[in-house]
Amino acid sequence: MPTSSDLPSHVRAIVDEIETEIGEEPGSAETLISGLGPHHGNGRVEAAVREILDEIGEDPDRQGLVGTPERVHRMYTELTAGYHVDPERLINGAVFDVDYSEMVIVKDIPFYSLCEHHLLPFFGTAAVAYIPRGRVIGLSKIPRIVEMYSRRLQVQERLTQQIAEFLQDRLAPQGVGVVMEATHLCAVMRGVRKPGTVMTTSSVLGLFRTRDRTRAEFLDHEAEPHVS
Ligand SMILES: [Zn+2]
Repeated sequence: MPTSSDLPSHVRAIVDEIETEIGEEPGSAETLISGLGPHHGNGRVEAAVREILDEIGEDPDRQGLVGTPERVHRMYTELTAGYHVDPERLINGAVFDVDYSEMVIVKDIPFYSLCEHHLLPFFGTAAVAYIPRGRVIGLSKIPRIVEMYSRRLQVQERLTQQIAEFLQDRLAPQGVGVVMEATHLCAVMRGVRKPGTVMTTSSVLGLFRTRDRTRAEFLDHEAEPHVS
């Protein structure tokens, strides 16, 4: 895996965007879109994608496919940019001592990830809650934590757990609850076609695990229709 300073500019831009507030480092989003810089790497991904195209009976040299190996390489490095996010830069001092011990909930956080079994997307929404123990994290950081772990090869169960454990580690709160609902393209595009099938996973720690009332409060909030 390349070290952080080795990252191609289009990946660096995504990592920067997850680590820093929008506007903090102006232009990173633009770099992301226009960053069609030369590709790093040794061409192995490109060669492998050509092999796949060949193997499925396509002609890798036809006009529409000529640029595909490079685009696929670029896309995978972007979709897995979360491996390179530095959690310290992401948090960047946004943990505050606050005397508040009610539940904090951030819900309807959209996320996109890649299933590690098929390299196909799964995507949906996350709800993240915790009960502080004298320490809170800036609200805007929570969707970034979700993104840091989503932009990797994942299974939904582990993704859910990693988000919960990250908050547990950093805030040592009284409890954490994470619920994720997602559609997996590997399930809806292949085999049994059941469009609309949604998988729900949850990870509950501390009071969310031990106290039924807390868990129920979280799940009630989480299930409320969102106001638009
Ligand atoms: Zn899959």
